[in-house]
Amino acid sequence: MLKYNKDCYLDHVAIAVSNLDHAQKIWEDLGLSFNPVREEVKSQQVTTAFANIDEHAHIELVCPIDNQGPIQKFIDKNGEGIHHMSFKVLDVEKKTEELKLLGYKMIYDKPVEGANNCLVNFVHPKSTGGVLVEIATTKA
Ligand code: ZN
Repeated sequence: MLKYNKDCYLDHVAIAVSNLDHAQKIWEDLGLSFNPVREEVKSQQVTTAFANIDEHAHIELVCPIDNQGPIQKFIDKNGEGIHHMSFKVLDVEKKTEELKLLGYKMIYDKPVEGANNCLVNFVHPKSTGGVLVEIATTKA
């Protein structure tokens, strides 16, 4: 039996989309239910829509606001698709420092405001074999 680590678990898979309503319908057709409240994340210039997958994990659709910001750049370069995986960690500030010491390239020097009342940081895909990894901690 593989060990399950409560201190680091999948919170969401984020998908970059250019039309939130259209994308949401695809996942609703598959059977997911979305939180009717969408959230604007100013630091990332996106609107997000969340659907639960299980008790922890969500699908997060991220859509650029006014065709600007990092998600728009991602879509321009790669098209729509999986943007990042996000893991909940006990303390994102501590984890950021730990990963920096281990030589991982972080997107932000210190964690920033994310969706769902979280502080977040990202590990650069160049450090992780091509996957943008978000680490997040819910603010107290
Ligand atoms: Zn995320």
